[in-house]
This record gives sequence, structure tokens and C-alpha cells, in this order.
Amino acid sequence: MSGTFIGMPAFPVAAREALDNAQQRRNLQHATQTIRDKRAAVVDEVDRWEELRVAGAAIKDHVLTHLDGYLVQLEESLTRAGATVHWARDAEEANRIVTALARETGTDEVVKVKSMTTQEIGLNEALEDAGIHAWETDLAELIVQLGRDRPSHILVPAIHRNRAEIREIFLREMGKVGTPAPEGLTSAPHELAESARRHLREKFLRAKVAISGANFAVAETGTLVVVESEGNGRMCLTLPETLISVVGIEKVLPTVADLDVFLKLLPRSSTGERMNPYTSTWTGVTPGDGPQQVHVVLLDNGRSDALADHVGRQALRCIRCSACLNVCPVYERVGGHAYGSVYPGPIGAVLNPQLRGTESPVDKSLPYASSLCGACFDVCPVRIEIPDLLVHLRTRVVDEKRGGLPSGEQLAMKGASWMFAEHTRWERAQRGAELGGRVLGKKDSIGRLPGPLSAWSDARDAPIPPGESFRTWWKRERGQG
Ligand code: SF4
Repeated sequence: MSGTFIGMPAFPVAAREALDNAQQRRNLQHATQTIRDKRAAVVDEVDRWEELRVAGAAIKDHVLTHLDGYLVQLEESLTRAGATVHWARDAEEANRIVTALARETGTDEVVKVKSMTTQEIGLNEALEDAGIHAWETDLAELIVQLGRDRPSHILVPAIHRNRAEIREIFLREMGKVGTPAPEGLTSAPHELAESARRHLREKFLRAKVAISGANFAVAETGTLVVVESEGNGRMCLTLPETLISVVGIEKVLPTVADLDVFLKLLPRSSTGERMNPYTSTWTGVTPGDGPQQVHVVLLDNGRSDALADHVGRQALRCIRCSACLNVCPVYERVGGHAYGSVYPGPIGAVLNPQLRGTESPVDKSLPYASSLCGACFDVCPVRIEIPDLLVHLRTRVVDEKRGGLPSGEQLAMKGASWMFAEHTRWERAQRGAELGGRVLGKKDSIGRLPGPLSAWSDARDAPIPPGESFRTWWKRERGQG
């Protein structure tokens, strides 16, 4: 069982703790730099990349505008193909449906693949409570699960671990839950992969039930699509007798032809590959071949609320490629755990507050977990304007705080607005800052301010003001002119 994000502190506290982890920072810097370079190289090869991005965004926007109709069409197509469709309003309902379906088969274990949505709803924990063990089969998710860790990246959930740490986890944990890692295992990638393969094969071969997510769901045909690199997805999707797919309602595409655009955009943006090694598609039940019981749980869990927000709904275009994480300077330094969700990085900072609301301290803090540099928009294959969404959500957080006694921050902002409104006040403030700068002398930064101002000074290394401002220097050197 992997750890959960429940009870995580808000971003500023979690980020400060993460920054103290030098090993994690080194691992992240190395990994994100490698994927960034690969992505940039393969994207540069495509002459009409921008047109592809525009096409991807347009298809997704069209689907979101007509989502009600496409979801009904998807249900009809799936049912016609022999699948059973379930609708889940929230995490609790989805967990109840999946747990009941797994129980009906009489099994006490399931294998899982490509299932971020199930992590979003805490399905593993719900299954565990019902006495059903869920085994992650994606290599990185297996590492997270065996290490009782939390995922920290959309695509590579164990990105914060290096090979030596993974070897240690395999040697220590694999034997407790199945085929042990071989003695003499080294940190060589092929040995680690082989060890995972041997461990998982036993689970694939005996599993009666598999649980998957889906990258795309085609309304026209009822076809679900999983894009992956390791082949474990194919094992999960074909070997068990029962397949339960938990799919967010925003994953719908109108037609099979639309896949053309996304199967070009996704691998280049996510792993920096021209084509991903495995693309699995399945359409309901095929008698005598593959799972004979196919269930699809269509999950809302806050997506309708996000859809209702005309500015924020573009976050639902996201195809979970993780390109925005890999270029984000904030993510690279603090890692994914600090975002308190299975969706970290820039997309997490906009998606979580929209799916979960902005009531909790974690979700209130996320729109501020960004420098607004805009690198996330530049790489996003579906052109989600993440910086604009962050500002939009910051406005929402501030609006929700209006009324009642003003906070220290609000008072400070009111004071700043009064000062900037009149140039003589600003000049007087500058003279005060010059004086402060001369008093503080050769200190590097302001240090901790007293009272409520400490919230501001604790979160940044604010440099001390110069002993002479540019304005004073100009007057001294050039006179009044
Ligand atoms: S927001 Fe864009 S770049 Fe980030 S994961 Fe989603 S699709 Fe990829």
C-alpha cells in the first residue's frame, strides 16, 4: 500500500521541507533535465507542431462544450459492445462500485495499470478496507507502492528516487509480497527491470480482475485507449477475466480519427519519444478473447464543477503528458509531494483547486505555487494557459477571503496601494528604505520580520534595500533634470 496525501500540510510548509532534501533535488534535476532535452529534440522534428497543438486544443474544447451529448453516445457505444457502464458522481461512489464489482468475482486481489484516476479517488485504500489487495504493475508505481511512498510525478511517479534507492526497495520489500528480488541484484537498469518483471509476472498470471484507467475514450465506437511504455498494460488488459476501467468524464474524444492528433502529441510531450511502445485499445467484450466481463466507471468527482467555470474549464483539456512538470522551476526544486495530490506541478496547481474546491489550506495555497514564468504553457500540447488559470484561481481564493476582519496581508496590500497612488508618498517610502538599507549595512537579506509580517519574510530571502536608490543617485549625479 502506498502512502496517502491526506493530512499533508499546505504548499509553503511542504515545499520548505522538500527543499531540505538535497538527494531528492539532485534526482529531480537530473531526471527532468533528461526528459526536457529529449522532448525538445523530438518536438523540433515536427514542422507543424503548433498546428497540432491548436488541433488538440480545438478537439478538446469541442468535446467539453458538448460533453453531455458525447457521454451519452459513449455509454451507448460501450453498452452495444458488451461493456457495462456505471456512473460515479464522486470518489466514494466510484470506490463503492469498483469494490462491489471486485467482490462479486470472489477475488481478494486485483492488478492495476495506468490508473491515476483511481489514485485520485483513493481506490487502493478502499479496496484494502474491503480485504482486497491492489497490486500496481506500472514499474514506477510498483516502486512507489513497495516503498510505501507517494507518487510525485504524473508519468514517472518514482522520479524522486534514484537507482540505488530502487534497488534497496526491491531487495527489502519484494519478498514480503511475492517473488523476491534476486540475490546480488545491482542498480543496473536492465537488472531492476528484470526483477520487476519476474515479480509481476506471477501476479499477472493469477489475477482474475484488473483495474485500469484510460488515456482516451472514443464516443463513436466505445473504444478505450491506454498508451504506455512497458507492456504491462497489455498484460492487465488481456489476461484477467474481469476488467474494470475507471475513466474521468473529460477523457472522451468524438471519433477514432481524433486519436491521430493525440497519439502524435502525447508521446513526444511526455516521454520525448516519437511513438510510445504500446498503444492498447479495447472495445467492450470479444467472446472467447480477453476479459469477458468489462465494466467502465465514468467518473465526475469535481469535473462538472470545473466545466462550469468558463475560464477554468480548459484545465480539463489536459492529457496528463507531464511536460509542464518537467519544465517547471518550482516543481524541479520541491518535487511532487509538496502539491498534496496525485496531480502535482503546474497542472496540479490548477486542477486540484478546481476538482476539490479552494476550502482546504492545501488547495488555497496551490494557485500560488508558481513563479508564473509561463514555461508550462509553452510546452503544453493542448495549449492550456496555466499562468492565466493560476491568476484566475488566485482571484477566487482572495474573493473567498473578503469580508470580516482584514488579514495582515490585506492590510499590507492596502498600505502599498495607498503608497503607490501618489508619487510623493512613494519617494518618502524610498527615503525610508534607503535609511533602512544604511542601518542594516552589509547584511545579505532582511531576515525575519516581526508579527504578521513574518509570514512574508519567512517565505523569501528579501534583499536589504540599497543605501542609495536610483532616484537619489540620479538627482545627485544629474540634478533635477
Ligand atoms: S497541462 Fe498540458 S503539459 Fe501539463 S500535463 Fe496536462 S497536457 Fe501535459
